[in-house]
Amino acid sequence: MNPEQLELTIGWLYPTLMSTYGDRGNVICLQQRAQWRGIKVNVMPLDRDAPTEQFHQVDVIVGGGAQDRQQEIVMRDLRQGKAEAIAQKIEAGTPGVFTCGSPQLLGHYYEPALGQRIEGLGLLDFVSKHPGPDARRCIGNVVFEITASRLAEDLRKMSEDAPLVIGFENHGGRTYLGEVEPLGRVISGYGNNGEDGMEGAFYRNAIATYSHGPLLPKNPSIADWLIQTALAEKYQTPISLKPLNDVLAMQGREAMFKKLGVKVPAVSAQRGPKN
Ligand code: GLN
Repeated sequence: MNPEQLELTIGWLYPTLMSTYGDRGNVICLQQRAQWRGIKVNVMPLDRDAPTEQFHQVDVIVGGGAQDRQQEIVMRDLRQGKAEAIAQKIEAGTPGVFTCGSPQLLGHYYEPALGQRIEGLGLLDFVSKHPGPDARRCIGNVVFEITASRLAEDLRKMSEDAPLVIGFENHGGRTYLGEVEPLGRVISGYGNNGEDGMEGAFYRNAIATYSHGPLLPKNPSIADWLIQTALAEKYQTPISLKPLNDVLAMQGREAMFKKLGVKVPAVSAQRGPKN
């Protein structure tokens, strides 16, 4: 399809409540990378005043991190039918990237540092628990390898770059997976809980991760995977995006790999997506 005929609606979950950790960068990255290809983009903020119908209109969902208190307010609002809308979208294959506080809401529950357990959507089989206000937070740069099989395979087709993700994590909550597939294997940093070496979760086309960064500008192949998958699902036809010049992002990745002592083949750190 001609890019000018394509339109992408990005649903941004609760920007006024869930923008504490810079995850707006993921929205800007998706918007810009789609626009650079001539694709028309709408950014739809899904705040408390957004009607439930709007949740059904989005092609890709972005959810950011939040503090415990804001997560509780969001969860209360989601219970008015919006939770079902998100669940339906995810089950139907709408892609999304959910960071830190957002995935905690997609799981069975989140136990905050103080106060009552917040029941989640139960869509992804995991639980998240904060060990309390005195517990050490998991903060710092994180590198992980994508192991979620379908995503890893798609990323390898799109780019010769190793499916290594660079991000920055900042969470008190620890997530423990049940049957859901992990997103990746931690190479440097804490990941889901600092114990089992797993990072995030991958379900249908939803990426759940503790990685801020923000994630997408630092890992442009994932941004392109989200755009491509969103458009392919929407128009029910395979979509191939024209390559962009990602030299600066690749140099940034290379510098971070070096700083963190992560070995990757030099050529892969320099190449952009070849899709
Ligand atoms: N409040 C949650 C925690 O501390 C989420 C934090 C975040 O979104 N970065 O685990």
